[in-house]
Amino acid sequence: MANKLISFSKKRDQLKYRGTSCRNCGRQLDLSDKFCPNCSQANSTKKLTLRDFFDEFFANIISYDSKLLKTLSALLWRPGKITKDYVNGKRVSYTNPFRFLLSLAIIYFLAISFNSDFSKLDEIVQDKDTPSFSSFFGDNGTLNLDLGDHEEQKELSNVIDSLKLSEEIQKISNQIKTKDSITLSHPTESFNAFADSTFGARISGKYKVISLLINKQGLKSYGTLLDKYSIEDTNENKIVFNSARSVNKFSKQPGSFLNDLISKLPFATFFFLPLFAIFIWLAYIRKKYTYTDHLIFSFHNQSLLFILLIISFLVDSVFKVDSGWIFISIFSIYLFRAMRIFYGQGTLKTIVKYLFLNTIFFILAGISGILLFTGSLITY
Ligand SMILES: [Zn+2]
Repeated sequence: MANKLISFSKKRDQLKYRGTSCRNCGRQLDLSDKFCPNCSQANSTKKLTLRDFFDEFFANIISYDSKLLKTLSALLWRPGKITKDYVNGKRVSYTNPFRFLLSLAIIYFLAISFNSDFSKLDEIVQDKDTPSFSSFFGDNGTLNLDLGDHEEQKELSNVIDSLKLSEEIQKISNQIKTKDSITLSHPTESFNAFADSTFGARISGKYKVISLLINKQGLKSYGTLLDKYSIEDTNENKIVFNSARSVNKFSKQPGSFLNDLISKLPFATFFFLPLFAIFIWLAYIRKKYTYTDHLIFSFHNQSLLFILLIISFLVDSVFKVDSGWIFISIFSIYLFRAMRIFYGQGTLKTIVKYLFLNTIFFILAGISGILLFTGSLITY
């Protein structure tokens, strides 16, 4: 269909070049047909010259550009109108809402991948060499805290001494150390000792053994766990191993984990929006719109949100400011206007539905966030 918009070189358009059948699909044509009604290829038998060839190429680009510009300007300046046009059948002049949203998600993804630099977090964690429980204590049970010369701190130190607290903690610390070294010297037995425990105790017991092996004996892969420690290959063991490895990785490189998580967000919208559209459909159940219409409405609004976030990202990186909240505010107002115009209900009704849908949105977003976070943690 897009080809109909192409204004090809005038010479090829002339009557003398027209044929009586389509060169592309073979349909019978009239000499008055400029385009094939079946496949919309231009009705021309003229051999392509190099110039015709480039003309066609640029015409395609311009046609795509004009669609894109029209989509952008309708979306930006007239909330709700583009969806109204689209579901009422005015489609060829706009780009497909799904493809449009997908392109924006990709651009946004690239933008945040370049920008979001949580890897600094990794450095902080590695520099500090995460203090472990036992590193607070010297070998003779004294506290390794840097208390300085201040009176208050001396007092605190005295209080701790008088309570014999440090001895108690040292005792516990020693117990943990002993337990750990027993586990490490008999990993298979320690692991299998939990085989008959209840589900919760079994999982947490196995988890602790595997964490120790990962941290102290450099266990890297599930295969090694099976071979070296002769652990049985079961789904449960595999899941426990993956979780322990992910959590260990996360605690050592939280920045990389966040980068990974955030880069998944734009694509999570494609699972999220179809679910959300069900609630829009419920809120407007007495309207004549179909589920697909509501979905297109949410695609258009999500596209606008991506555009605003991309602009916000550019503003932030050029001017070194934090403009996110401005663009989110603009979006909130825009969304209300879009609902008013697309669904054509009064201000009061729209306010109620706006609040309802926003509440649902945040609940769903919260649930998806948790799912995405745990999902990332397990597969990280
Ligand atoms: Zn044809």
